[in-house]
Amino acid sequence: MITPQSLRIAVIPGDGIGEEVMPLGLRCLKAAAAKFGLALELTEFEFASCDYYLKHGDMMPEDWHSTLSAYDAIYFGAVGMPDIVPDHVSLWGSLLKFRRDFDQYISLRPCRLLPGIPSPLSNPGDIDFWVVRENTEGEYSSIGGKIFEGTEREVVIQETVMTRIGVDRVLNYALNLARSRPKKHLTSATKSNGISITMPYWDERLKALSAERGYDDLKIDKFHIDIFTAWIVLNPSQFDVVVGSNLFGDILSDLGPACTGTIGVAPSGNINPEGKFPSLFEPVHGSAPDICGKGIANPVGMIWAGQMMLQHFGFKDAAGAMMRAIEDVLAEGASHIITPDMGGSTGTTESLGAAIERKILGG
Ligand code: ATP
Ligand code: MG
Repeated sequence: MITPQSLRIAVIPGDGIGEEVMPLGLRCLKAAAAKFGLALELTEFEFASCDYYLKHGDMMPEDWHSTLSAYDAIYFGAVGMPDIVPDHVSLWGSLLKFRRDFDQYISLRPCRLLPGIPSPLSNPGDIDFWVVRENTEGEYSSIGGKIFEGTEREVVIQETVMTRIGVDRVLNYALNLARSRPKKHLTSATKSNGISITMPYWDERLKALSAERGYDDLKIDKFHIDIFTAWIVLNPSQFDVVVGSNLFGDILSDLGPACTGTIGVAPSGNINPEGKFPSLFEPVHGSAPDICGKGIANPVGMIWAGQMMLQHFGFKDAAGAMMRAIEDVLAEGASHIITPDMGGSTGTTESLGAAIERKILGG
């Protein structure tokens, strides 16, 4: 992908704390853009939120696809008001539509232990790896059903579907990502000792692609998912880029960030690597109704998601400055600035976001 001169970003704050952390994410993005001379065009939309649903009876307008297709990326807060709108309506009517209709076939999550954030692991070491998850096929197909339903002979079947195109494109993305990193190490999740058709196919494609495409400079290995999850807990610093099918990637992309502390800091990308459609960047956390309105939501996940977005489009200096600003503020760990979920006393969404913004600007 060629680095564009400017970025057009559709901003969707969504619901709950999404609306509270988004303004800080935008301030930090604008600070980085001002400092490094990037042209960011930020356009805010109120759809893909439950408020919109309550007013219009749908999560999004009919022309959402053509409206958002005009943007390079979607910067997304969080969606969901589970007490008022069921999750299957809010989620299926927004985020999952983006993922499918914009062919965001890569789910990408960094797992990095930031300074000042305690890991739940007693011996975390230097955790710094990426999880690449296949986001469109695999185990999450709806092919299957029940036979002899309601009888003692009841049988329930759900098929895993892997296509060559689907498997190759996620493996290629992971191979390229590993190549771009100093350790050049890719670890693939498998279960070919138990799942005897699809998983050996996944392993074969990785072997074939790495040979065909000359990835001899990479260290490539694989683990069965059961021992893989154990190794992430026991020795996470050995990993660099990890790749998994839809199900295994799903497991790894919750386990990885869980080892790096609070849910409030982790970001996530749903990516269409070719840029044919917009990619979406969001914090991992949801709308968190329990803390909404208190002004204490941690804005780091939102800000880091913005950093990932700049990095994805090749704005390395601006992305680097944003990451350093996050790290510096967390390392200083001032209790009146850091939010309570990270052990702060009087810190708020505003105090923490503003401190990161100041650092980006050089203060
Ligand atoms: P989803 O909407 O993805 O299903 P969820 O409802 O399972 O998410 P969240 O909304 O992410 O979960 O909240 C889970 C817990 O983490 C809540 O107790 C919430 O208060 C806390 N939490 C989530 N995000 C943040 C944040 N940014 N800052 C502080 N605490 C947070
Ligand atoms: Mg929720």
